[in-house]
Amino acid sequence: MKAAVLREYAEPLEIQHVPDPEPDSHGVVVETEACGICRSDWHAWQGHGEWADDRVPKGQILGHEPAGRVVAVGSGVERVREGDRIAVPFNLGRGDCEFCRNGHGNVCADGLALGFETDAPGAFAEQVHVPYADYNAVELPPNVSPVEMAGLGCRFATAYHGLAHRADLTPGDWVAVHGCGGVGLSAVHVADALGANVVAVDLADEKLSKACELGADETVNAGEVEDVPERIRGLTSGGGAHVSVDALGVAETCRNSVACLRERGQHLQLGLTTDEERGEVALPTDAMTMREITFLGSRGMPPTRYGELLRMMDRGTVSPAALVTNEVALGDVPDRLAAMSDYGTVGIEVVTEF
Ligand SMILES: [Zn+2]
Ligand SMILES: [Zn+2]
Repeated sequence: MKAAVLREYAEPLEIQHVPDPEPDSHGVVVETEACGICRSDWHAWQGHGEWADDRVPKGQILGHEPAGRVVAVGSGVERVREGDRIAVPFNLGRGDCEFCRNGHGNVCADGLALGFETDAPGAFAEQVHVPYADYNAVELPPNVSPVEMAGLGCRFATAYHGLAHRADLTPGDWVAVHGCGGVGLSAVHVADALGANVVAVDLADEKLSKACELGADETVNAGEVEDVPERIRGLTSGGGAHVSVDALGVAETCRNSVACLRERGQHLQLGLTTDEERGEVALPTDAMTMREITFLGSRGMPPTRYGELLRMMDRGTVSPAALVTNEVALGDVPDRLAAMSDYGTVGIEVVTEF
């Protein structure tokens, strides 16, 4: 089969012929119908993550937002059948540790990160192997398109899990979203769907317009104001945001996010850092303590929680497809990743031709 393989960090991915995957006893093989291109792919391609023991090995097939049809089933799989249409979260659990059994498979102690490690080749490929399929596979309703499915694996699900499960969000709360890339725009859309008032922050007017289409009530162009947190306080009746999301992962957006909160506010970290920060950002911990600010990390979404998101999609409350701005072919992936280096993509781009 054809696959996009990481040969050298920051060199174009190579489209190569590699052996078709065979299902492990606990796995299934999916014929990929769609796979989103995510900033995490870009981080992996750049060789980021060694500071968190999370650097993707060379030789890796990237791609972690797949959706498609099951074409082969391992001997020990009971729930998933050939022909099923499934999506999977990138954060794969094994299903049997205390976290998985308590509904937190996204932080499984022995979990696999699809498309980021040797044991879990990714979905920028004609076929992808899904390990521990009985636990991880999310069956898709018939009315959900492959493109819509593709956004669910990482960014949309990550934004949803962060806002719906990690943060304590009340309708009418002000939510600030710093960075309007794929996960940021997803957070804008989800926060709006959950009844929040949303302030979107970015440097690009084009991304802020997209944020307005997706439900942002106010926008701040961070390149045009002196003090982003102060502007946000001004837009939120002087108090600041109840919940603020760093959807980018650079020191400035992280600190702005913490600084724009009102007392007892909650900061939600969705973006991973770059080789500037190397996983560490200085924060005003005294002020956070005095003002009872909460710092929440959030990773992907447990596979066991997808049902609620699919029901919201069914009722039209959220629409991941509204984030999709471009459908491309597997051969375009190297270029589209490169376009992320200068933040040159808007919304979510999805590979639909393999
Ligand atoms: Zn587990
Ligand atoms: Zn991702």
